[in-house]
Amino acid sequence: MKVEEFDYVIVGGGSAGCVLANRLSEDGRYSVCLLEAGPSDNSLLIRMPIGIGFLVAGEKYNLPHHTEPEAHLNGRRLFWPRGKTLGGSSSINAMVYIRGNPGDYDDWEKAGNPGWNWQSLKPYFLKAEGNERGRDSHHNDSGPLAVSDLRWKTRAGEAFIRAATSAGHSANNDFNGQSQLGFGFYQVTQKNGRRCSAAAAYLHPAATRENLTVITGARVANLVMQGNTATGVQLIGGPEICARREVILCAGALQSPQLLQLSGIGDERQLKSLGIQPRLHLPGVGENLQDHLDVTQVVRVNRPITFSNSLWPTLKAAASLPRFLWGNGGMLTSNGAEAGGFSRSSFARGFADLQFHLTSAPLFDHGRHRPGGYGYSLHVCGLRPKSRGSISLRSTNPSDLPRIRANFLSEPEDLQVLIEGVEQAREIIEQPDLRQFHKHWWLPQRRLNSRSDIEEFIREHAESVYHPVGSCRMGDDPMAVVDGQLKVHGVEGLRIVDASVMPNIVSGNTNAPVIAVAERAAELILGRASSAAPAAVTEEVAVD
Ligand SMILES: Cc1cc2nc3c(=O)[nH]c(=O)nc-3n(C[C@H](O)[C@H](O)[C@H](O)COP(=O)(O)OP(=O)(O)OC[C@H]3O[C@@H](n4cnc5c(N)ncnc54)[C@H](O)[C@@H]3O)c2cc1C
Repeated sequence: MKVEEFDYVIVGGGSAGCVLANRLSEDGRYSVCLLEAGPSDNSLLIRMPIGIGFLVAGEKYNLPHHTEPEAHLNGRRLFWPRGKTLGGSSSINAMVYIRGNPGDYDDWEKAGNPGWNWQSLKPYFLKAEGNERGRDSHHNDSGPLAVSDLRWKTRAGEAFIRAATSAGHSANNDFNGQSQLGFGFYQVTQKNGRRCSAAAAYLHPAATRENLTVITGARVANLVMQGNTATGVQLIGGPEICARREVILCAGALQSPQLLQLSGIGDERQLKSLGIQPRLHLPGVGENLQDHLDVTQVVRVNRPITFSNSLWPTLKAAASLPRFLWGNGGMLTSNGAEAGGFSRSSFARGFADLQFHLTSAPLFDHGRHRPGGYGYSLHVCGLRPKSRGSISLRSTNPSDLPRIRANFLSEPEDLQVLIEGVEQAREIIEQPDLRQFHKHWWLPQRRLNSRSDIEEFIREHAESVYHPVGSCRMGDDPMAVVDGQLKVHGVEGLRIVDASVMPNIVSGNTNAPVIAVAERAAELILGRASSAAPAAVTEEVAVD
């Protein structure tokens, strides 16, 4: 088949890949090819925020991974959806806009990554951000990633925030401002009530550039190497695509390590056991996997203050389609996970280590089980787990999904943090502001009378909140996969730019952090940023 050649070949059109496709093609000097395994993102379900309920449960735009049986979660296999379309996971995510805590990035630097601190990342968060609230020392209003207040809020969301403050938490109107602690409505990555995925923000505006080629339905099988230089990629059932300058893996925390392993880069022994001839022994590939483990409690309510899967409310929601299409408003602009907050457990050591999401609907099994009736779901997750998992090959077939060992709760402290989170959530649920609406508990189905009851509830019901990171960690030690320039150790012409390079998971949702990393990576690739020099920031944010 015909071989095509570009300066930069980007593998994966997700959050990071879309940023790079835009920034590397911006000044016209280089030809850029973006290869995306999934279909185009031309779908009303993607544009319409409430569509998330169908996107996560469906498989058209989603690579539905499952973990191996989890030893500390009663042997359950957990569902790990990942976006598979232009925009990647940002096209199927809940749109919550959170940067994490400044302390997270300072920890990255302390872990051996000079220049990867809050001082140097903040300018890239600002460069990306287009916040409709305007510009101040914490925010920018002119970046491509639209950030908005929700246009539709439920009475459950309002009651939840009042209940959280009655329970002793502070109210917070801006989790990305002076302080992360407290409870409030989330800001979302939306523009005019529509999802602003990384594709909407970065790729579609660049789509007509002559030096940018975007190919969907193009799943990469492996890297093409000459010696220790990556010279291109091989598509499954398609041609080889050559890179004159670099191949950049942006396939996400699950697929980037898989692609390295399929190309003979990884732990030598593991590769040999599958019959793969090792090209480079890089034992950290696929290790250091981290995610936020989340516990949801669901309460059935006595009035229509939430969304519902029953027939009449569903018809009512469908009838508001014209208001969404022509008025950019109404209930279809809801992201579901409308409100939330941050707090500390007794293990926090500094800044928040618990995050809450209030979904204004009864949420069971990631939305794949939909009983009728009104209800709300209060999630809590531990933000900086100590447990580490891994990604490895299931087989040498590039179409197979990798083996995920999340290893959740393998570190006992993670369980203790989560138990405190469930206790805090129950305190909020029991406040009169929410209690007045209660019909009955939906989940748990029996009373939790003790910490050991809570522990068993966690082991039986906790799930991923979809933030896997860290599986191709940045650093300069033998287990690191990329260096501070995001170049793969020991390989020429190959970088990784996506959630997998994070040394530690951040304290919050991961889309905006991945986009900031990609913004910085673009400057590193184009030689505009030094890997170590911290950029100036106007005003510091408290690390609370
Ligand atoms: C259901 C869900 C809800 C979430 N909610 C939020 C939220 O509310 N807020 C938030 O901040 N974050 C949220 N996240 C997390 C956030 O969206 C991700 O962390 C982020 O999008 C990851 O970006 P990435 O570039 O690393 O990977 P992705 O965006 O996942 O991109 C990887 C891309 O690579 C493609 N790809 C993979 N393998 C290949 C291959 N072999 N060849 C070619 N292409 C390939 C994939 O199809 C995909 O498009 C959510 C995620 C999910 C799944």
